[in-house]
Amino acid sequence: MTLIDGKSVARDIRLELSERTRVFEKKYGKKVGLAVVLIGDDAASQVYVRNKIKACEEAGIRSFAHYLPAETTQRAAEELIVSLAADRNVHGILVQLPLPKHLDAERILSLIPTSKDVDGFSTENIGMLATGGGGTVACTPLGVMELLKRYRIETRGKRAVVVGRSNIVGRPMALLLLNADATVTVCHSKTDNLKEECLRADILIAAIGKAKFITADMVKEGATVIDIGMNRDDNGLLCGDVDFEHVKDRAAYITPVPGGVGPMTIAMLLQNVCDAFERTEKQA
Ligand code: NAP
Repeated sequence: MTLIDGKSVARDIRLELSERTRVFEKKYGKKVGLAVVLIGDDAASQVYVRNKIKACEEAGIRSFAHYLPAETTQRAAEELIVSLAADRNVHGILVQLPLPKHLDAERILSLIPTSKDVDGFSTENIGMLATGGGGTVACTPLGVMELLKRYRIETRGKRAVVVGRSNIVGRPMALLLLNADATVTVCHSKTDNLKEECLRADILIAAIGKAKFITADMVKEGATVIDIGMNRDDNGLLCGDVDFEHVKDRAAYITPVPGGVGPMTIAMLLQNVCDAFERTEKQA
């Protein structure tokens, strides 16, 4: 079994990106900029935002943090996005989800121009992915593809099974694998015979949100197992959707949690911001 070391790959990518931002500064005379919007006081969101801002600093990306109180009105949130959309120093806009319940998140996200949609959530970016690629792709599934690429794991002609169909993880993951010539099956909570579906997978991707849900008897000998889940086990420890201890002996490749897909998400965010900057500057 080979352990896929997402932490180390993400570190390499972040180093590559800090070199890329240095080259950009020399070539275009300006810094790459990411605006991060956090509304409310969700503790986990605060940690995610802090980590993203720190990662930006390390990669030479300027970050513009906007912390708004939980009682922010829809109008104030929309006005902020509209002003960031027009700001030439801002090349990417990230709105940390979830937003407080009284806000219409879909409407707020729809105000982010596609060119600054570094999360790949816009209808246009999703449409491009669904029709074969070319746009900005959601960071977590993009990070999985990067891991497969760097570990030279073949997707072409392989049977990939994605468990989970959320708009931000499972669906874009399935589309990316399809675009990479895998034969893709998407499973979800209404799938009959989930175990049989999983057992057919050369590449099994778990994006469920249930601790240790994928057990060894669901995994084909020699499969690649990618665990996107981030959960707490009974002892409060971080764990994935895959029962790592028992599955690892059946898998040819496997991602651990923590240290697998997680660190790739931020690295891909930074990459998407750099790509957005480059596209904008080339068009200017
Ligand atoms: P989500 O929106 O809750 O979606 C979960 C998916 O799993 C749904 O499609 C659901 O099916 C499916 N599912 C639930 N129970 C199932 C079951 N018993 N059998 C088969 N499928 C089942 O979650 P998400 O946002 O996609 O996130 C999934 C996991 O990835 C979470 O643990 C999350 O924390 C993690 N995550 C990690 C990162 C990272 O950076 N590593 C980033 C994002 C998310 P239905 O559609 O039928 O309900």
